[in-house]
Amino acid sequence: MSMDMELLKQRMQSIEERIQAACERANRKREEVKIIAVTKYVDAEAIRELLDAGIEHIGENRVQDGVPKYEQYGDRGTWHFIGHLQTNKAKEVVGRFPYIHSLDRLSLAEELNKRGEALNQVVFCFLQLNISGEETKFGLSPNDVLAFLRETSNMRHIKIIGLMTMAPVVENTEDARPVFRGLYEWKDRINEWAFPHAHVEELSMGMSSDFEVAIEEGATYIRLGSVLVKP
Ligand SMILES: *Cc1c(COP(=O)(O)O)cnc(C)c1O
Repeated sequence: MSMDMELLKQRMQSIEERIQAACERANRKREEVKIIAVTKYVDAEAIRELLDAGIEHIGENRVQDGVPKYEQYGDRGTWHFIGHLQTNKAKEVVGRFPYIHSLDRLSLAEELNKRGEALNQVVFCFLQLNISGEETKFGLSPNDVLAFLRETSNMRHIKIIGLMTMAPVVENTEDARPVFRGLYEWKDRINEWAFPHAHVEELSMGMSSDFEVAIEEGATYIRLGSVLVKP
């Protein structure tokens, strides 16, 4: 299915205005916020259209859909793996998607490091934190972050460059704000610890329903699916 280009451009324009307004409210520069187009709802053709329309970052959340799409258009744009990653599928993602937003456990870190070593590559990771504490959410518990960083500190082929979180589904987006603020605080805390493999620059937070609040709280990557590409 191909997207209506006119509709896509309208959506991008309206999203752009909302991003700029949020940046202004927060006294942030527009360049600090990058859009990841989450393309799980659409096929590879639509990804080509997004790239043609000037989208740089593509996000896929499932290996079985994301890898074939990458095989078609991976030579364009920058690809992010944003969904839960099973350890036995990590090998399909490393070497294709340079950024993985869902590092949430030691066994996955070990596997990513092993695969990175085999390809002689560094795997750029976002540590996914379960800030909201919802049991249904993936993500490392904040209580375990220090131990996790100690246990991964000798892994030469992973670098933790960012943090990622999913806010709970709430009626009032203001209710997501403490979760985003919490992630920002973890960035500062982790950077104070100064682990050589974990210098956090990026915050991957905010989706279609809450990206403005996320920007106000310091998001550098917002992950936009439905607001951008929902057919
Ligand atoms: C689907 C998805 C998104 C985008 O969700 P929308 O609400 O459609 O914008 C962002 N992040 C992850 C991990 C997703 O799976």
